[in-house]
Amino acid sequence: MTLVKIREVLDGCCDGKKVAVRGWVYRKREGKTMIFLLIRDSTGVIQCTVRKDSAAWSEAERLTIESSLTLEGTVKSDPRAPGGYEIVAEAISIIGLAELFPITKDKSEQFIRDVRHLWLRSRRMNLIMKIRANVLGFTREFFKSQDFTEVSPPMFISAAVEGGSTLFGLKYFDQDLYLTQSSQLYLEILIYSLEKVYCIAPSFRAEKSRTIRHLTEYWHIEGEWPFADMHDLMRFEEELLAYICQQTADKCKKQLEELGADVTKLSSVKTPFPRITYTEAVERLAKKGSALKWGDDFGYDDEKALAEEFNKPFFIYDYPAAVKAFYCKTYREHPEIAMSVDMLVPRIGEISTGGVREDDKDTLIRRIREMGLKEEDYDWYLDLRRYGTVPHVGFGLGLERLLTWMLDLENIIDAIPFPRTTRRFYP
Ligand code: ATP
Ligand code: MG
Repeated sequence: MTLVKIREVLDGCCDGKKVAVRGWVYRKREGKTMIFLLIRDSTGVIQCTVRKDSAAWSEAERLTIESSLTLEGTVKSDPRAPGGYEIVAEAISIIGLAELFPITKDKSEQFIRDVRHLWLRSRRMNLIMKIRANVLGFTREFFKSQDFTEVSPPMFISAAVEGGSTLFGLKYFDQDLYLTQSSQLYLEILIYSLEKVYCIAPSFRAEKSRTIRHLTEYWHIEGEWPFADMHDLMRFEEELLAYICQQTADKCKKQLEELGADVTKLSSVKTPFPRITYTEAVERLAKKGSALKWGDDFGYDDEKALAEEFNKPFFIYDYPAAVKAFYCKTYREHPEIAMSVDMLVPRIGEISTGGVREDDKDTLIRRIREMGLKEEDYDWYLDLRRYGTVPHVGFGLGLERLLTWMLDLENIIDAIPFPRTTRRFYP
């Protein structure tokens, strides 16, 4: 008897063989002479049949949903079985008999979110988490292929990156510190040593509004590198996204299909992406009857309306400096315009923001003051402009926003195992 993973059985490697699988009871249906079990492990779900005359019958009768077990039997191809194969059970050994499992078909979405620790066992969450892990892998592969060094920035920080309204404060012994909103400023430090750097780390935002695209803790894919401009930045970002999407379409095809995601949407992500300026975006919105004026920041509805026109990822660049952060570089001949670029996708809107960073010390000081920030909080950041300043660019891409788009998820909370929102922080 060989112990196999369920995926091996479904892939047809075990037809006619005696095997053992280890896992949990996913579904159970009892007839007078036959018990149908769906058994799951980390790799898949397989139908198992237990006949009344089998030695496994009495244990099969005792089994409850989510009980853990080892099941031995013979693999048989059967077109009626989901996946095309089933195991005819010969012996069952119960490992942990489950109490009455609280998640049943009639339960509300609210309830399912409350028992996240149990819902994570669902096939749907299993598939999403596997694809997520693969997407992280493809991201690292791409950065590595471009000679980037992965670095580990701190999460406790002493000054805001993205403005005070979404900053989480905390007591750090007897000091007031914050949880980081982005690792950008720390990546900027590291480019002076390592040049091309990236990190994949949590960012924290005290977002009070409930939307389908905001978490209070999310994973941020951030890159930063010197001697580059806006065009290099957009080219890098689109190549990264195209690589992630194509690799996912290729290597995770089965999981995507089982999840009901659109594989073609991902495989057809090709570079170059369309690029429009902020000004052009405002004009396009005006044609749709929007009252938005030049200088206003886009809201979710504006982003969605623009994204509908493209129906694929695209860039908006050259934003009004007033709606962008203090570190954004502005055009010398047009100080009202920042060299900042967002990547947008249909339905979700913005998935990344990047730009050229201000590398001139005096301009940076002026911007810090204009934004009502304290110069002394950014002393070390100004040092980067004092000692060998260089033109440099960077971007931040929200992993969960990306997955929400890639996998057609209704809400960002399903893109992360343990979502944190205003109201959810348990378990
Ligand atoms: P938004 O305006 O949509 O709230 P932002 O412009 O404040 O986003 P950035 O500071 O540009 O966000 O962060 C870079 C990226 O991080 C965003 O493009 C997005 O993908 C992701 N991101 C930002 N805030 C959140 C959040 N609260 N939850 C999940 N992802 C986020
Ligand atoms: Mg942004």
